[in-house]
Amino acid sequence: MTKSLSLSIAGVAGRMGRQLVVAANLAGHRIIGGTERSGSPDLQTDIGTLAGLPALGKNPVEHPADATRGADAWIDFTSPAATLAAMEQLKGSSVKAVIIGTTGFVPDQEAAIAAHATRYAIVKAGNFSLGVALLTQLTRLAAEKLGPDWDLEILETHHKHKVDAPSGTALMLGQAAAEGRGATLQSLRAAPYDGTDAKRAAGQIGFAVRRSGGVIGEHDVTLSTQTEQITLAHKALDRRVFADGAIKAAQWAAGQSPGLYTIHDVLGL
Ligand code: NAD
Repeated sequence: MTKSLSLSIAGVAGRMGRQLVVAANLAGHRIIGGTERSGSPDLQTDIGTLAGLPALGKNPVEHPADATRGADAWIDFTSPAATLAAMEQLKGSSVKAVIIGTTGFVPDQEAAIAAHATRYAIVKAGNFSLGVALLTQLTRLAAEKLGPDWDLEILETHHKHKVDAPSGTALMLGQAAAEGRGATLQSLRAAPYDGTDAKRAAGQIGFAVRRSGGVIGEHDVTLSTQTEQITLAHKALDRRVFADGAIKAAQWAAGQSPGLYTIHDVLGL
Protein backbone atom coordinates (compact mmCIF):
# COMPACT_ATOMS: atom_id res chain seq x y z
CA MET A 1 0.00 0.00 0.00
CA THR A 2 1.23 3.51 -0.81
CA LYS A 3 2.36 5.56 2.17
CA SER A 4 0.21 8.62 2.81
CA LEU A 5 2.33 11.74 2.38
CA SER A 6 2.10 15.22 3.86
CA LEU A 7 2.22 17.57 0.88
CA SER A 8 2.68 21.29 0.45
CA ILE A 9 1.61 22.88 -2.84
CA ALA A 10 3.09 26.05 -4.31
CA GLY A 11 0.75 28.39 -6.19
CA VAL A 12 -2.15 26.45 -4.74
CA ALA A 13 -4.81 28.75 -6.23
CA GLY A 14 -3.47 28.39 -9.79
CA ARG A 15 -4.95 26.17 -12.50
CA MET A 16 -2.50 23.37 -11.69
CA GLY A 17 -2.43 24.13 -7.95
CA ARG A 18 -6.15 23.45 -7.63
CA GLN A 19 -5.85 20.26 -9.71
CA LEU A 20 -2.99 19.10 -7.48
CA VAL A 21 -5.14 19.51 -4.36
CA VAL A 22 -7.85 17.37 -5.95
CA ALA A 23 -5.39 14.72 -7.15
CA ALA A 24 -3.61 14.57 -3.76
CA ASN A 25 -6.94 14.21 -2.00
CA LEU A 26 -8.04 11.39 -4.31
CA ALA A 27 -4.73 9.57 -3.76
CA GLY A 28 -5.21 9.75 0.03
CA HIS A 29 -2.44 12.25 0.85
CA ARG A 30 -2.68 15.12 3.34
CA ILE A 31 -2.33 18.75 2.28
CA ILE A 32 -0.21 20.36 4.99
CA GLY A 33 -0.35 23.79 3.34
CA GLY A 34 0.06 25.82 0.20
CA THR A 35 1.44 29.15 -0.95
CA GLU A 36 0.23 32.02 -3.09
CA ARG A 37 1.97 35.14 -4.30
CA SER A 38 2.05 38.19 -2.10
CA GLY A 39 -1.12 40.28 -2.54
CA SER A 40 -3.18 37.48 -4.11
CA PRO A 41 -6.87 37.76 -3.17
CA ASP A 42 -6.85 33.95 -2.89
CA LEU A 43 -4.85 34.24 0.36
CA GLN A 44 -8.27 34.91 1.94
CA THR A 45 -9.85 31.61 0.77
CA ASP A 46 -9.53 28.10 2.20
CA ILE A 47 -7.34 25.75 0.11
CA GLY A 48 -10.07 23.08 -0.05
CA THR A 49 -12.66 25.62 -1.16
CA LEU A 50 -10.35 26.89 -3.90
CA ALA A 51 -10.16 23.33 -5.27
CA GLY A 52 -13.93 22.78 -5.06
CA LEU A 53 -13.55 20.40 -2.09
CA PRO A 54 -14.73 20.68 1.53
CA ALA A 55 -12.75 23.29 3.51
CA LEU A 56 -9.39 22.09 4.86
CA GLY A 57 -9.19 24.76 7.58
CA LYS A 58 -6.09 26.26 5.95
CA ASN A 59 -5.67 29.27 3.68
CA PRO A 60 -2.70 29.72 1.34
CA VAL A 61 0.24 31.57 2.91
CA GLU A 62 3.02 33.64 1.33
CA HIS A 63 6.11 32.01 2.79
CA PRO A 64 7.04 28.37 1.97
CA ALA A 65 8.37 27.85 5.53
CA ASP A 66 4.85 28.55 6.88
CA ALA A 67 3.33 26.02 4.46
CA THR A 68 5.75 23.13 5.00
CA ARG A 69 5.80 22.36 8.75
CA GLY A 70 5.91 18.54 8.78
CA ALA A 71 5.67 18.28 4.97
CA ASP A 72 7.36 15.36 3.17
CA ALA A 73 7.14 16.90 -0.29
CA TRP A 74 6.85 20.28 -2.03
CA ILE A 75 5.02 20.36 -5.39
CA ASP A 76 5.62 23.43 -7.51
CA PHE A 77 3.80 24.49 -10.71
CA THR A 78 4.28 28.28 -10.59
CA SER A 79 6.93 30.35 -12.40
CA PRO A 80 10.71 29.88 -12.68
CA ALA A 81 11.46 32.79 -10.30
CA ALA A 82 8.90 31.60 -7.71
CA THR A 83 10.15 27.99 -7.87
CA LEU A 84 13.79 28.99 -7.39
CA ALA A 85 12.99 31.38 -4.54
CA ALA A 86 11.00 28.62 -2.81
CA MET A 87 13.88 26.14 -3.09
CA GLU A 88 16.05 28.56 -1.10
CA GLN A 89 13.32 29.17 1.46
CA LEU A 90 12.75 25.43 1.99
CA LYS A 91 16.23 25.02 3.50
CA GLY A 92 15.84 23.77 7.07
CA SER A 93 12.30 22.46 6.44
CA SER A 94 11.21 18.81 6.72
CA VAL A 95 10.80 18.58 2.92
CA LYS A 96 12.78 15.71 1.36
CA ALA A 97 11.15 15.50 -2.09
CA VAL A 98 10.49 18.33 -4.55
CA ILE A 99 8.33 17.98 -7.68
CA ILE A 100 8.81 20.72 -10.26
CA GLY A 101 6.28 21.11 -13.08
CA THR A 102 7.05 24.76 -13.75
CA THR A 103 8.31 25.31 -17.31
CA GLY A 104 10.41 28.01 -18.97
CA PHE A 105 13.67 27.83 -16.99
CA VAL A 106 16.75 29.35 -18.67
CA PRO A 107 20.05 27.40 -18.49
CA ASP A 108 21.36 29.27 -15.39
CA GLN A 109 18.14 28.46 -13.58
CA GLU A 110 18.37 24.80 -14.63
CA ALA A 111 21.86 24.73 -13.11
CA ALA A 112 20.55 26.28 -9.88
CA ILE A 113 17.93 23.53 -9.61
CA ALA A 114 20.57 20.87 -10.22
CA ALA A 115 22.60 22.36 -7.36
CA HIS A 116 19.62 21.89 -5.00
CA ALA A 117 19.54 18.19 -5.90
CA THR A 118 22.27 17.51 -3.33
CA ARG A 119 19.64 18.27 -0.68
CA TYR A 120 16.35 16.96 -2.11
CA ALA A 121 15.07 14.19 -4.37
CA ILE A 122 13.83 16.44 -7.19
CA VAL A 123 11.61 15.21 -10.02
CA LYS A 124 11.38 17.81 -12.80
CA ALA A 125 9.33 17.37 -16.00
CA GLY A 126 7.80 19.66 -18.61
CA ASN A 127 4.98 17.12 -19.14
CA PHE A 128 3.87 15.07 -16.15
CA SER A 129 1.56 12.80 -18.12
CA LEU A 130 2.76 9.29 -17.39
CA GLY A 131 1.14 8.08 -20.61
CA VAL A 132 3.08 10.60 -22.71
CA ALA A 133 6.32 9.53 -21.01
CA LEU A 134 5.62 5.93 -21.98
CA LEU A 135 4.51 6.92 -25.50
CA THR A 136 7.83 8.73 -25.96
CA GLN A 137 9.78 5.60 -25.08
CA LEU A 138 7.59 3.40 -27.27
CA THR A 139 8.06 5.81 -30.17
CA ARG A 140 11.85 5.70 -29.78
CA LEU A 141 11.77 1.89 -29.69
CA ALA A 142 9.41 1.54 -32.67
CA ALA A 143 11.48 3.95 -34.78
CA GLU A 144 14.65 2.06 -33.92
CA LYS A 145 13.28 -1.45 -34.48
CA LEU A 146 11.24 -0.74 -37.61
CA GLY A 147 13.74 1.37 -39.50
CA PRO A 148 13.41 4.09 -42.12
CA ASP A 149 11.38 2.12 -44.68
CA TRP A 150 8.42 2.47 -42.27
CA ASP A 151 6.84 5.90 -42.88
CA LEU A 152 6.59 7.64 -39.50
CA GLU A 153 3.87 10.29 -39.08
CA ILE A 154 2.86 12.19 -35.95
CA LEU A 155 -0.65 13.62 -35.65
CA GLU A 156 -1.68 15.94 -32.82
CA THR A 157 -5.07 17.47 -32.01
CA HIS A 158 -5.63 20.29 -29.52
CA HIS A 159 -8.28 22.84 -28.55
CA LYS A 160 -8.79 25.86 -30.77
CA HIS A 161 -7.03 28.30 -28.39
CA LYS A 162 -3.60 26.71 -28.75
CA VAL A 163 -1.14 29.08 -30.40
CA ASP A 164 1.89 26.88 -31.14
CA ALA A 165 1.95 24.07 -33.72
CA PRO A 166 3.01 21.31 -33.81
CA SER A 167 2.67 20.94 -30.03
CA GLY A 168 5.80 20.70 -27.87
CA THR A 169 4.81 17.12 -27.09
CA ALA A 170 4.53 16.24 -30.81
CA LEU A 171 8.01 17.67 -31.36
CA MET A 172 9.29 15.71 -28.34
CA LEU A 173 7.86 12.52 -29.91
CA GLY A 174 9.51 13.44 -33.21
CA GLN A 175 12.80 13.92 -31.38
CA ALA A 176 12.48 10.49 -29.74
CA ALA A 177 11.71 8.92 -33.14
CA ALA A 178 14.74 10.63 -34.70
CA GLU A 179 16.94 9.40 -31.82
CA GLY A 180 15.63 5.89 -32.42
CA ARG A 181 16.94 6.25 -35.97
CA GLY A 182 20.26 7.66 -34.78
CA ALA A 183 19.58 11.15 -36.18
CA THR A 184 18.33 14.58 -35.15
CA LEU A 185 14.77 15.74 -35.72
CA GLN A 186 16.13 18.73 -37.59
CA SER A 187 17.61 16.42 -40.21
CA LEU A 188 14.51 14.18 -40.57
CA ARG A 189 11.59 16.61 -40.16
CA ALA A 190 9.39 16.75 -43.25
CA ALA A 191 8.05 20.09 -44.44
CA PRO A 192 4.23 20.33 -44.03
CA TYR A 193 2.45 18.50 -46.87
CA ASP A 194 0.79 21.27 -48.85
CA GLY A 195 0.58 22.23 -52.51
CA THR A 196 1.42 20.36 -55.71
CA ASP A 197 4.91 19.12 -54.83
CA ALA A 198 4.17 17.57 -51.43
CA LYS A 199 5.14 13.94 -52.01
CA ARG A 200 6.50 12.13 -48.95
CA ALA A 201 10.28 11.54 -48.97
CA ALA A 202 11.53 8.19 -47.60
CA GLY A 203 12.87 8.20 -44.03
CA GLN A 204 11.40 11.53 -43.01
CA ILE A 205 9.23 12.25 -39.98
CA GLY A 206 5.99 14.01 -40.88
CA PHE A 207 3.70 16.11 -38.67
CA ALA A 208 -0.01 16.80 -39.00
CA VAL A 209 -1.96 19.21 -36.82
CA ARG A 210 -5.66 19.59 -36.02
CA ARG A 211 -7.29 22.35 -33.94
CA SER A 212 -10.75 21.49 -32.74
CA GLY A 213 -13.10 22.77 -30.02
CA GLY A 214 -12.07 21.87 -26.49
CA VAL A 215 -9.77 18.87 -27.16
CA ILE A 216 -7.25 18.73 -24.27
CA GLY A 217 -4.50 16.94 -26.19
CA GLU A 218 -4.23 13.91 -28.50
CA HIS A 219 -1.07 12.47 -30.05
CA ASP A 220 -0.83 9.59 -32.54
CA VAL A 221 2.38 8.11 -33.92
CA THR A 222 1.79 5.96 -37.01
CA LEU A 223 4.35 3.76 -38.72
CA SER A 224 3.38 2.20 -42.06
CA THR A 225 4.69 0.10 -44.89
CA GLN A 226 2.77 -0.89 -48.01
CA THR A 227 1.40 -3.94 -46.16
CA GLU A 228 0.97 -3.07 -42.47
CA GLN A 229 0.53 -0.22 -40.01
CA ILE A 230 1.06 0.39 -36.29
CA THR A 231 -0.48 3.35 -34.42
CA LEU A 232 0.67 4.36 -30.94
CA ALA A 233 -1.85 6.79 -29.49
CA HIS A 234 -2.40 8.89 -26.37
CA LYS A 235 -5.36 11.04 -25.33
CA ALA A 236 -5.43 13.40 -22.35
CA LEU A 237 -8.99 13.02 -21.04
CA ASP A 238 -8.71 15.60 -18.24
CA ARG A 239 -6.23 18.34 -17.39
CA ARG A 240 -5.79 16.55 -14.09
CA VAL A 241 -3.54 14.07 -15.92
CA PHE A 242 -0.56 16.34 -15.13
CA ALA A 243 -1.54 16.60 -11.45
CA ASP A 244 -1.96 12.82 -11.17
CA GLY A 245 1.53 12.35 -12.66
CA ALA A 246 3.02 14.86 -10.23
CA ILE A 247 1.41 13.12 -7.24
CA LYS A 248 2.73 9.78 -8.45
CA ALA A 249 6.17 11.38 -8.79
CA ALA A 250 5.93 12.65 -5.19
CA GLN A 251 5.11 9.15 -3.94
CA TRP A 252 8.11 7.79 -5.81
CA ALA A 253 10.51 10.61 -4.83
CA ALA A 254 9.66 10.24 -1.12
CA GLY A 255 11.59 6.96 -1.16
CA GLN A 256 14.63 8.20 -3.12
CA SER A 257 18.03 9.63 -2.16
CA PRO A 258 18.74 13.26 -3.08
CA GLY A 259 19.25 13.73 -6.84
CA LEU A 260 17.69 15.19 -9.96
CA TYR A 261 15.23 12.78 -11.58
CA THR A 262 12.87 12.75 -14.59
CA ILE A 263 9.41 11.32 -15.11
CA HIS A 264 11.13 8.44 -16.92
CA ASP A 265 12.94 7.54 -13.68
CA VAL A 266 9.57 7.53 -11.88
CA LEU A 267 8.23 5.00 -14.38
CA GLY A 268 11.45 2.97 -14.46
CA LEU A 269 11.70 3.57 -18.22
P1 NAD B 1 -1.39 29.59 -13.20
O1 NAD B 1 -1.01 30.99 -13.53
O2 NAD B 1 -2.85 29.23 -13.26
O3 NAD B 1 -0.88 29.23 -11.71
C1 NAD B 1 0.33 29.66 -11.14
C2 NAD B 1 0.03 30.06 -9.71
O4 NAD B 1 1.28 30.35 -9.05
C3 NAD B 1 -0.83 31.33 -9.61
O5 NAD B 1 -1.93 31.10 -8.75
C4 NAD B 1 0.13 32.37 -9.05
O6 NAD B 1 -0.51 33.36 -8.25
C5 NAD B 1 1.04 31.48 -8.22
N1 NAD B 1 2.32 32.13 -7.89
C6 NAD B 1 3.07 32.96 -8.65
N2 NAD B 1 4.15 33.38 -7.96
C7 NAD B 1 4.08 32.80 -6.74
C8 NAD B 1 4.90 32.85 -5.58
N3 NAD B 1 6.01 33.59 -5.54
N4 NAD B 1 4.54 32.12 -4.50
C9 NAD B 1 3.41 31.37 -4.53
N5 NAD B 1 2.57 31.30 -5.59
C10 NAD B 1 2.92 32.00 -6.69
O7 NAD B 1 -0.54 28.65 -14.14
P2 NAD B 1 -0.71 27.08 -14.42
O8 NAD B 1 -1.49 26.87 -15.67
O9 NAD B 1 -1.15 26.40 -13.16
O10 NAD B 1 0.80 26.68 -14.76
C11 NAD B 1 1.84 26.88 -13.83
C12 NAD B 1 3.14 26.33 -14.40
O11 NAD B 1 3.02 24.92 -14.60
C13 NAD B 1 3.54 26.91 -15.77
O12 NAD B 1 4.96 27.03 -15.80
C14 NAD B 1 3.07 25.85 -16.74
O13 NAD B 1 3.77 25.87 -17.96
C15 NAD B 1 3.37 24.61 -15.95
N6 NAD B 1 2.63 23.41 -16.36
C16 NAD B 1 3.36 22.26 -16.40
C17 NAD B 1 2.73 21.06 -16.70
C18 NAD B 1 3.55 19.79 -16.65
O14 NAD B 1 3.02 18.69 -16.90
N7 NAD B 1 4.84 19.88 -16.29
C19 NAD B 1 1.36 21.02 -16.96
C20 NAD B 1 0.64 22.22 -16.91
C21 NAD B 1 1.30 23.41 -16.60
